[in-house]
Amino acid sequence: MPPLPKRRTSRARQGERRQHLHITPPHLVECPHCHEMRPAHQVCPNCGTYKGEQVLKTK
Ligand SMILES: [Zn+2]
Repeated sequence: MPPLPKRRTSRARQGERRQHLHITPPHLVECPHCHEMRPAHQVCPNCGTYKGEQVLKTK
């Protein structure tokens, strides 16, 4: 006999096995300068500041 699974894996069991393969939403924090939401540990795309310092030029 060929080595095949005896039973088809149910959707529930398949999902159980893949429960850690979920996607996570980006972690957003409020910018202390302009109070816009921005990704954590990144220069604010709205006002161009990081840790209270102007890093990028803004129009
Ligand atoms: Zn900002």
